[in-house]
Amino acid sequence: MKITDLKCAVIGGYPIIRITTDAGIDGIGQAESYKPFLTPHVLFYRDMILGLDPTNVEAVMQRIRRMGAFKPWGSAVSAIEVALWDIAGKAAGLPIYKLLGGKVRDKVRVYNGAVRFPLRDQSPQAYAENVIQMAEAKEGFSIVKQGISFHSNMMYDVPNYFIGEKRTTGRHPNRGLMTEQGMKHTIACIQAMKDALGDAVGLALDCGPGLVPQDAVRLAKAVEGMNIMWLEDMLTGDYVPYVSAAQYRDVKSKTSTPIHTGEQIYLRQNFMELIETHAVDIIGPDPLDVGGIAELKWISEYADLHGIMMAPHGTGDGIFGLAALVQVSATLPDNYIAFEYPVARPEWWYDIVDGLPDQIVKESFIDVWDAPGLGITFNANAKKYLAAGDERFFD
Ligand SMILES: [Mg+2]
Repeated sequence: MKITDLKCAVIGGYPIIRITTDAGIDGIGQAESYKPFLTPHVLFYRDMILGLDPTNVEAVMQRIRRMGAFKPWGSAVSAIEVALWDIAGKAAGLPIYKLLGGKVRDKVRVYNGAVRFPLRDQSPQAYAENVIQMAEAKEGFSIVKQGISFHSNMMYDVPNYFIGEKRTTGRHPNRGLMTEQGMKHTIACIQAMKDALGDAVGLALDCGPGLVPQDAVRLAKAVEGMNIMWLEDMLTGDYVPYVSAAQYRDVKSKTSTPIHTGEQIYLRQNFMELIETHAVDIIGPDPLDVGGIAELKWISEYADLHGIMMAPHGTGDGIFGLAALVQVSATLPDNYIAFEYPVARPEWWYDIVDGLPDQIVKESFIDVWDAPGLGITFNANAKKYLAAGDERFFD
């Protein structure tokens, strides 16, 4: 089998890639939403993979893997990897999880970072009401993740929140020492959320990036005893193109509160220092940014050897990203906690894809489906959502 084309179309805000073959089998991959700029970057790889056998996934990846980088520049490579596995699975008549060594669980736990509701204001009461809404969503989530501190509007709306210049442009642009008032307000919000949720639903907190290590230690120690699931990306994360493993190790060594990072990191090599020096408790690679499904599987196995847990990122990954997360999460070792359930918007996304269960999440779990490849495919409704210039995407 040979690759005959690599295409990219932005459908409903998500870059979707399609690899075609001379056997008539195609593979679909996608990138996180908010990346309408990705099409030329995807097509950059086209000539490097034409003519190769897509079922030799690793051999194809060796051609393109070094031409990627941290988020968002690993997403095109990652989407191609997912599409290759989709083809390999369809060619074998097997779900992808079988090609990764088989599943070790029939259903995968997910957590809520995407089924969200507007936050009324920045008060502890508003935060408490908001996480209750997230926990009461029809999916029955057993873990919810709330943004706080530098990953929220606290830094703008709470007076005297931190010392430093307040920047409003760029992604997560602020960083600096928190004031005592800022720290106390943050802790009050966390306490209010925990009091509201009780101990039946876990609370994870996305915190930055933006905290300095000194504040990360103070915050993590202050919430010890609250049994927080994890504090995410306090120092680096999101669109930060480096890891800061030594700083994370300093923070982690001083607290019992679990520390989490890794959603923006590209490739296994860039997790080595975090894992080998036990710099964090939990890592959260995103299959659509880290380099793909097999990359995430490898990282998870290596993390498990070092006592580090896995909670993969996925909030903007759309429906094909959801399928990739389900396939790989079914195969991960016992260090797997849950992945971040993506919600596709607009709502019509759920009408243009076949293969999803009617109710995707039941009591915080997704039953692992068994159809070949990713197990979901575009149906005839999809064509009408192609933008001008993309009309031939499905040809
Ligand atoms: Mg995050």
